[in-house]
Amino acid sequence: MISVEQALEKILSNVSVLEPERKPILETMGQVLAEDVRSDINIPPLDNSAMDGYAVQWDSIRGATISQPKALKVIGEVAAGCISDREVTPGTAIRIMTGAPVPAGADTVIQFEDTDEEIRKGKSLDEIGIMRELVKGSNIRRGGEDITRGSLVLTTGVVLRPQEIGVLASLGRADVLVIRRPAVAVLATGDELVDVGQPLPPGKIYNSNAYTIASQVRRYGGIPRILGIAADESQDLLEKIILGMDSDLLITSGGVSVGDYDIVKDVLAELGAISFWTVRMKPGKPLAFGVLTRNGRKVPHLGLPGNPVSSMIVFEQFARPAILKMLGKKNLAKPTISAISESRIENRDGRRVFARAIVRKGDGQYFARLTGPQGSGILTSMSRANALLVVPENVATVEVGDEVSVQMLDWREED
Ligand code: AMP
Ligand code: MG
Repeated sequence: MISVEQALEKILSNVSVLEPERKPILETMGQVLAEDVRSDINIPPLDNSAMDGYAVQWDSIRGATISQPKALKVIGEVAAGCISDREVTPGTAIRIMTGAPVPAGADTVIQFEDTDEEIRKGKSLDEIGIMRELVKGSNIRRGGEDITRGSLVLTTGVVLRPQEIGVLASLGRADVLVIRRPAVAVLATGDELVDVGQPLPPGKIYNSNAYTIASQVRRYGGIPRILGIAADESQDLLEKIILGMDSDLLITSGGVSVGDYDIVKDVLAELGAISFWTVRMKPGKPLAFGVLTRNGRKVPHLGLPGNPVSSMIVFEQFARPAILKMLGKKNLAKPTISAISESRIENRDGRRVFARAIVRKGDGQYFARLTGPQGSGILTSMSRANALLVVPENVATVEVGDEVSVQMLDWREED
C-alpha cells in the first residue's frame, strides 16, 4: 500500500504545465495568465470629476457657506467623454458630469448638493451659488491614479477572475496569453454498462461515471471528451484507449479491481509503463497510473475505480490537482477547514477515510455530520454531501465533538 501523498506526488511528477495560447479576454475566465501585462496608457487618462457638480477655482469659493454662498458665472457644461473648450477663470464655473475631464483652469469640483442649483431650478443657470468651501482639489480623480502608463499591472501566474478581465479590458486589451486548458479523455469500462438514453436490458446499469467524471473535469477547468464505453475485452479497450491518446490526460473508470484487472493490465502494458496501486484510502483504494506512449506522444493515464463514489473521491484527490497543475495553477489543495464532528466514525483498517458529510456553520464554528449510508456505490449520498470529512490513517475512532479536517466539495472551486 502507498499513502495518498505518495500517489499524488507520483502523479504530479508526471504531469506538466501546458503551453500558453492567445485568447479573447472573455474566454479566459479562471485560466492562468502567461504574460506580464503592462499598461501603455494612464487610467484614468485625464483628471476627471468624481461627482456631478461644478468645476471651479478654489480661490473663487473660499469661505463659501450656506448662509453666504459665493456666486459664480456659469460659462458652460461638460459631459463624460467630452473635453470642454472653455477655461475656468476666477469667478466662473463649468457645470460638469461624473467622469468628465476637468476643464482647464479648474482645480476643485463642488457637487450639486453643495450648490443652490435646486433652488434655481427653472431659471436659466447662468449663475450658481456655491454653499460650501470644501478642500482644494476635492472631487477630482487624478489622471493615472489607478494605473500609470508603463506600470506592471498583472503578472504571469495570476488566475483571471472577473476583476482581472475587467482590468485587461480597461487597458484596451482584446486578447491575452493564458495557459491552455487540458483536453481530458474519459473512458468508462465494463460489460455491464449501457449509455444514457438507451433502454436498460436486464442485468445492466447506466454508465454514470463518464458523466460525473466529465463534469468534474469541466468544473476544474479541463475540456472533457467522453470516449464512450469499452467492453471488458482487450481489443475494444485498446482501440478506445488509443482514441484517447491525443488528449492531455486519459481518465478511465473501472477495471482496476481484482476482478477485471488482468485485461486492463495487459492492454496498458502494450502502451507503456503502468502501475496498479493500492492507496491507503477509503473509499477507492485501487488506482492505476502510468504514462502511455504511442507514436512518440506521451499521455498520463489515471485509472479510477468503478464504484461511482470511489471514482468521484479518487478524482478529487488525484485528477483535480493534476488538471490544476496542467492549467498552471499553484494552489492544488482542496479547500479544507476545521469542523466539529457530529457523527461517530470508526476507522478499523488504518486507511485515510473520506466520509461524505454535510458541513454547516453555527455558533461561530463549523459542524460536520455524515450524510448517511457510506457504501461506495451510493452516489446519492455524494449528492447530499457538501464536504468530505477526513479521518487520518492513525485515528481509529472519531467521537462526536472531536475536531476534524473537512475538505469542502463546494467552496471557491475556481482557485
Ligand atoms: P469495477 O471497478 O470495474 O470492478 O467496478 C466496480 C463497480 O462499479 C461495479 O459495481 C460496477 O458496475 C460499477 N461501475 C463501473 N463502472 C461504472 C460506470 N461507468 N458507471 C456506473 N457504475 C460503474
Ligand atoms: Mg468493471
